[in-house]
Amino acid sequence: MQSHNLIIPQSLYSILFTMQDTHLTHLRTAIAVALRARAKGNHPFGAILVDVDGTVLLEAENTVNTEHDCTGHAETNLVRMACRRFERAVLERCTLYTSTEPCAMCAGAIHWSGIGRVVYGLGEEELYAMTSDGAHPDNETMRLPCREVFARCVRPVEVIGPLLEDEARTVHEGFWIR
Ligand SMILES: [Zn+2]
Repeated sequence: MQSHNLIIPQSLYSILFTMQDTHLTHLRTAIAVALRARAKGNHPFGAILVDVDGTVLLEAENTVNTEHDCTGHAETNLVRMACRRFERAVLERCTLYTSTEPCAMCAGAIHWSGIGRVVYGLGEEELYAMTSDGAHPDNETMRLPCREVFARCVRPVEVIGPLLEDEARTVHEGFWIR
């Protein structure tokens, strides 16, 4: 009987595992940025921009409270900085790592920036559950997965996530209690 087992070469395995390790390392950095935002009195969200060689180009915290700006989400702040500093051709090859799944506003900003890939930690549904089912006055969580926003965009944006949800959840613990 003929076998249809797919044989994956060892070299491909090691590439896939290395990619996964890289994602986890950068996500942990984004989670650390979220913790820093919380320590400054802001909402616990953080994002970083990583280039095609794995170099961290930028970090951005949520600044909603300290800047009195409801659009001061970590990813939107990151996009504003990124567009001022880098050409679109560079951004297209970058990955944005974010501690929690981007909201619809941030997904829109990522779309407009040209950034090619998003990797996120905690999923939108998990955040929704942690913020009184979206009713917390500081975070009226939209129930709109970023993949649905990107699916309506002309330009494809690769999305990876959720990843490391247990670690990503820790920065929210005790924060959204009313
Ligand atoms: Zn957002």
